Amino acid sequence: MSNQAPGQRDWLAVARDAVATAIFPQQCFACGAASGSDVLCSVCLAELPGKGDARCPVCAIGQPLGEICGACLREAPPFDATRAVLDYGFPVDRLIQALKYGHRLSTSRLFVDLMAAAPVPEADIVLPMPLHPARLRERGFNQAAELARPLAQRWGLPVLLDGVVRDLDTSPQASLPWKARVANIRGAFRVTAPLAGKRVVVIDDVMTTGATLAEFARALKAAGAERVENRVVARTPAPA
Ligand SMILES: [Zn+2]
Ligand SMILES: [Zn+2]
Repeated sequence: MSNQAPGQRDWLAVARDAVATAIFPQQCFACGAASGSDVLCSVCLAELPGKGDARCPVCAIGQPLGEICGACLREAPPFDATRAVLDYGFPVDRLIQALKYGHRLSTSRLFVDLMAAAPVPEADIVLPMPLHPARLRERGFNQAAELARPLAQRWGLPVLLDGVVRDLDTSPQASLPWKARVANIRGAFRVTAPLAGKRVVVIDDVMTTGATLAEFARALKAAGAERVENRVVARTPAPA
């Protein structure tokens, strides 16, 4: 929840949008129609893939009735819960690329608004998925931290930006099959923050197989975290 009065916040948002529209009139990222100061027009915003879909409460894969999926029932992942607001498909994939490499502020604002519409997580601390130092130098910022900071502020929770070190550079992860991904990421994180008894909410942009988030949760729990919940922008849907 914002600590500003709603009226004040609305007024500020309206003023900011008016200024932004006058200075930077935007075209919808997906269809090219005029979209004021927003990254998407209202039609494309309403049609984002996976928006409002029922999902497995543990791994966020689409499930018609929101029940725990077969994979999570067979083997419970090291994290306790996951929420995704969208599916990873057009135009979400392009928007996430824009967030990662283009640092478009309007894109992170859209994702934060969508993620903040979900119930506040039961957590003591917010942790962005850390980026390997080499990737951080290359890009200049961590897109997960760009989402975590404003989300933590809205939730009234502290955000920890330097409590975990990513020792292994696993960026080619996307090209590997599941089993290789799990082996590739093992031991990637070193937790330096005191997390004993803490409930942690982890922020990331995309959850593909969940191997990286699983390894992260394993490291957090080994450091004493009591509960780990993931909040991600988009989940890669199960193959049809
Ligand atoms: Zn559009
Ligand atoms: Zn599941």
